[in-house]
Amino acid sequence: MRATAAFSSLLLLDGVHVRDVVFESDRVVVEVALRRRRLICPRCCFSTPHRHDVRPVDSDWRHLDLGVWRLEIRARLRRLVCPEHGVLTEGVPFARYRSDFTRDFEHLVAWLATRTDKTTIQRLVRIHWRTVGRIIERVCADELDPGRLNDLFEIGIDEVSWRKGHRYLTLVTDHHRGQVVWGAEGHDAATADEFFDELGAHRSGQIEAISMDMGPGYAKSARAEGHAPQAVIAIDSFHVAKLGSEALDEVRREYWNHLRTLGDQQAAKRFKDARWALLKRPENLTDRQTETLRALKAAGGTVARAYLLKEALRAIFAPGLTVDDVDQLLTRFCSRASRSRMTPFVRLAKTIRRHRDGILAAVRLGLTNARAEALNNKVRLITRRAYGFHSAHAALALVLLTCGPITLQPPHELHLH
Ligand SMILES: [Zn+2]
Repeated sequence: MRATAAFSSLLLLDGVHVRDVVFESDRVVVEVALRRRRLICPRCCFSTPHRHDVRPVDSDWRHLDLGVWRLEIRARLRRLVCPEHGVLTEGVPFARYRSDFTRDFEHLVAWLATRTDKTTIQRLVRIHWRTVGRIIERVCADELDPGRLNDLFEIGIDEVSWRKGHRYLTLVTDHHRGQVVWGAEGHDAATADEFFDELGAHRSGQIEAISMDMGPGYAKSARAEGHAPQAVIAIDSFHVAKLGSEALDEVRREYWNHLRTLGDQQAAKRFKDARWALLKRPENLTDRQTETLRALKAAGGTVARAYLLKEALRAIFAPGLTVDDVDQLLTRFCSRASRSRMTPFVRLAKTIRRHRDGILAAVRLGLTNARAEALNNKVRLITRRAYGFHSAHAALALVLLTCGPITLQPPHELHLH
């Protein structure tokens, strides 16, 4: 078998034949030619038999590695005039518009990005992390199910930080499918407005419930005319529980500063170490942290009282409690917290009273479930991996590829099954 024929069957590239194979010092270059005569616009389906000029455009794409070698596809392309997109180099079936990589290569990178860490991908695939970002943006735009915004009945709107320094994405989750279906940069009412605008009045009118945090932005947008004023607003319980942890942390910090001003450096240091013992769930503590926590509770005082309040709040949202149970427990918690003489907890009691209907609605509708929280945690883990991407779009693409309505497969599964 000749090398060109062998490479034709090896590469599985659509719509081309192999003209030559060149072995260079660090790579294998495969020269191909398109089978089709017509020129196709790379951005739409326009096609024409006429080329714009005789100037050839030599193009290269990186393809899946061949053993330890880089493999490059090279082709001489023509230019066309698309009535909508102007003068462009013709599109090729095996690569996306303006990409230096073949679709198979991009699929591999996207699949890896949803499953493994930055360092591994960079070393294995030999590309920069920012390039990974650009690749997954293209794959996401191509693979995202266009019907994902149909039939949304119970949704969640939440923010997640995608980069240090208060850079946020707003994400919309479909509770039924357990998937992230929409996202955009920003985290205020205007960002949620973008979602409802894209959804349109008809589909927005079908929404029955929206879960969210206690901030004013998303609720304001949801209630606006033409958005989803009919929807019940439910407050995610993990946001409520998180406020309990934050209040405890504030109390702990104040107490620590207080000790420091008294000149008790030793105790202050001990206390700083105790932070995780207090904030983690008791079942997740190490032996040493459990011991620290026991000692803190035995010593009593403000921090121990704050800890008990935080745990009491968390226990309210344990699975299996009825709406009436939760209602009673919330009342009891709020009166304890407002009598606690600890400012962060007094403030927390006020916040909870103000959002009581929403908190109970979440329990009634079953939106306060482990699945929603698990998805939330997964999204947080993914966005931490996206730190270092050049744009919010890349971070969003990673979230949608991992937690959205997209099924990615490594290239051999796509071709061989
Ligand atoms: Zn076009």
